[in-house]
Amino acid sequence: MQDVKDITIIGAGPTGLFGAFYAGMRGASCRLIDNLDQVGGQLTALYPEKYIFDVAGFPKVLSKDLVKGMAEQAFQFKQPVHLGENVTGLKRDSENGKPAFTVVTDKDEYPSRTVLIAGGIGAFTPRKLPLKDVDRWYGKGLHDRVLDPKAFSGKRVLLVGGGDSAFDWAVNLQGIARSIVMIHRRDGFRAHAATVRQVQELCAAGKMELRTFWELKMIHGDERIERSGGSTSRRARSRSRRPWRPICRVCSPPATSPPIRASSS
Ligand SMILES: Cc1cc2nc3c(=O)[nH]c(=O)nc-3n(C[C@H](O)[C@H](O)[C@H](O)COP(=O)(O)OP(=O)(O)OC[C@H]3O[C@@H](n4cnc5c(N)ncnc54)[C@H](O)[C@@H]3O)c2cc1C
Repeated sequence: MQDVKDITIIGAGPTGLFGAFYAGMRGASCRLIDNLDQVGGQLTALYPEKYIFDVAGFPKVLSKDLVKGMAEQAFQFKQPVHLGENVTGLKRDSENGKPAFTVVTDKDEYPSRTVLIAGGIGAFTPRKLPLKDVDRWYGKGLHDRVLDPKAFSGKRVLLVGGGDSAFDWAVNLQGIARSIVMIHRRDGFRAHAATVRQVQELCAAGKMELRTFWELKMIHGDERIERSGGSTSRRARSRSRRPWRPICRVCSPPATSPPIRASSS
């Protein structure tokens, strides 16, 4: 059992880090707990090399650089941070007759006068493509995040999805990937309107291709991904107005493989 703090923050993403900074500004004792092994939340785990354009004061900032700045700002008050710990429970407690809590993780217990839940999208794990045998393609050209854009240098990239992740990488992999084709199973996009516009401009300029009502159905190859098969079926169109869970995957067939072919199914 650890010592009691004024505030225990669950999640060391941007929200948690700024919370820790402000706790310090107000003279409150504080700790951060995160199940990842680094601070920064989604920025560190999902897109460390992506540029962010919508942070006040930064016309353009690399995600990992923003995290570095936020961590420096947060930890100037020397708050302890407990990484690699998953919060599994919260117990009601009391301290000298005043209400308090105990935050329970898979490793320890942390008494606290208040608790700030800054868990974002939760203790996340990548959502996998709903394809049979999908696991065999990881490390062979299938990616569910971009940690180093250089890994896609000179590759023909097929992006699957219509959310921020897919659109951001369609823009950010320009000039790195040899070619970019993006497919999405409907014609509505969850991505930021400004990025959707950028992608439309890139398509108009012939720098990439966007195909709507396309779904990835199969992946072919031997040692690496060589080809992927898609579908433009009416079913995809008729389902397009239903709610769906966005997926974004990046497949990078080797530069020497034949062009991406989509087969009807
Ligand atoms: C690909 C992509 C691109 C994006 N681009 C932009 C952009 O350009 N501009 C922009 O403004 N936003 C962007 N976003 C959104 C932005 O990343 C989020 O809004 C931001 O990360 C939210 O910060 P947060 O601290 O609230 O949560 P998160 O970043 O989700 O951090 C939450 C933290 O809580 C931890 N956690 C959760 N549950 C537990 C638990 N039980 N125990 C321990 N730890 C736990 C998680 O491990 C995580 O580290 C993008 C998101 C993605 C996926």
